[in-house]
Amino acid sequence: MSHSTTKPLLFALAGAAVAGLLAGRGVPRIAPRPAKKQRRHSRRPVCRVVVVGAGFGGLAVASRLVGRPGIHLTVIDAHNHHLFQPLLYQVATAALSPGDIASPVRSILPESPSLHVMMARVTGVDTGAQHVLCGGQAVPYDQLIIATGSQPSYFGHADWAELAPSLKTLDDALGLRQQILHVFEQASAAIPADRGRLLTFVLIGGGPTGVEMAGSIAELARDVLARDFNLPGAQARIMLVEAGPRVLSAFTPDLSDYAAAALRTMGVEIRTGTSVTGIEPGTVHLGDQAVAAATVIWTAGTEATPVAKWLGVAPAHGGRVAVGPDLRIPGHPEVAVIGDAALALGSDGKPLPGLAPVAKQQGSFVARTILRRLHGRRAPGAFMYRDYGALATIGRNKAVAEFGAVHVTGFPAWITWAVAHIFFLIGFRNRVMVSAQWAFAYLTHERGNRLLIGREARS
Ligand SMILES: Cc1cc2nc3c(=O)[nH]c(=O)nc-3n(C[C@H](O)[C@H](O)[C@H](O)COP(=O)(O)OP(=O)(O)OC[C@H]3O[C@@H](n4cnc5c(N)ncnc54)[C@H](O)[C@@H]3O)c2cc1C
Repeated sequence: MSHSTTKPLLFALAGAAVAGLLAGRGVPRIAPRPAKKQRRHSRRPVCRVVVVGAGFGGLAVASRLVGRPGIHLTVIDAHNHHLFQPLLYQVATAALSPGDIASPVRSILPESPSLHVMMARVTGVDTGAQHVLCGGQAVPYDQLIIATGSQPSYFGHADWAELAPSLKTLDDALGLRQQILHVFEQASAAIPADRGRLLTFVLIGGGPTGVEMAGSIAELARDVLARDFNLPGAQARIMLVEAGPRVLSAFTPDLSDYAAAALRTMGVEIRTGTSVTGIEPGTVHLGDQAVAAATVIWTAGTEATPVAKWLGVAPAHGGRVAVGPDLRIPGHPEVAVIGDAALALGSDGKPLPGLAPVAKQQGSFVARTILRRLHGRRAPGAFMYRDYGALATIGRNKAVAEFGAVHVTGFPAWITWAVAHIFFLIGFRNRVMVSAQWAFAYLTHERGNRLLIGREARS
């Protein structure tokens, strides 16, 4: 990069960061109601609202209900933090650290005497007694909102999970980072004949996560292998395997083509129309071809968490729970399912996609419904999703953005992606940290989070 381009880009990134910092949060914080107000409403029976899952959907509900008069809110999550999953791949590829993209749930929601945050794994729901079951406890509810999201699906090959880990939690991201950095170390000490397998990375699934991971591993290999290990980045083989005819199939074909071309310029090998037929330690089978690869990453399917089983309803497509237009489940108006766990239909009659904005808008809608009912007002009718467009990044200065008929690629799409992600990150600290690290990485090609700690890698 020439110096003449560095400065405007630095200003652009700084501008992006400031815009993100000033613009506020994706999930608004609601200050706790003053004690006086709570006393005024104290004779009203308290509505016990239980929110299961503090991801995008659950937090959108909780942040709107916390401290509201007449509501006792319990938020239950298996983890103690809210995770910004869209940037998980950056933790897996040493660009960011876990604390940059996650915040403790207790620090996001304001303190309130009517708020109870529980770290517990929910294992069932007794819809008759109106109890959420977790860790031997039964938590009673008047209104229940389930927002437990999705989990990786190996399409009936559960045994592949260990050999081809997926990317869903911070633990997954740290495991992958460990694996990627470890094989670099091993390759630098290996005889040339072994290097090919050690430096082969196969990503299964050409959706946004597969594309982002492939691009980011390619950049990591190019920037770090050459500098730290004195190995040419080109020695790394990065293969993106997609069963369908194109990568980023949720985008229009022109944007898929751009993404594929951009990945190829970064040295990524794209195999569309190719299905994985087997995975063994050190080998992945693509039809008749066996590819020796030390690292196989699953970025293909997801399915809903087992909410349908908890509620005793038949699972819909992808294990999701079919909900009505108001996001409640048939026969139980006191139970709503939102986000990736729910199958809700859009205005075109098609299922809404598993995306953060869907979960957040559904969370706001459910909170509004509860508040309106509590105040004796008519609940809003049906949930309507507002689609503001889609973004996916491929690598430095390479991204795609689709805003209806407007399609943007390259640097403008990339800077839009960066600003949007800083804007939606939760917590002022995280926005500052991520902005600073991106600006630094942009100028130096440096990945600062390359510590190898703990577990062994596969080789
Ligand atoms: C790697 C990756 C990248 C992504 N990138 C994008 C992107 O760029 N843009 C986009 O719009 N979307 C993206 N998504 C999808 C987006 O993250 C999801 O659509 C969104 O998180 C769904 O929100 P949710 O509230 O339904 O579930 P989540 O945000 O997943 O939250 C679920 C919560 O429930 C908790 N939980 C789960 N099971 C239990 C249980 N049994 N008991 C208690 N708690 C439980 C979890 O700990 C979690 O906190 C990405 C997803 C992944 C995995």
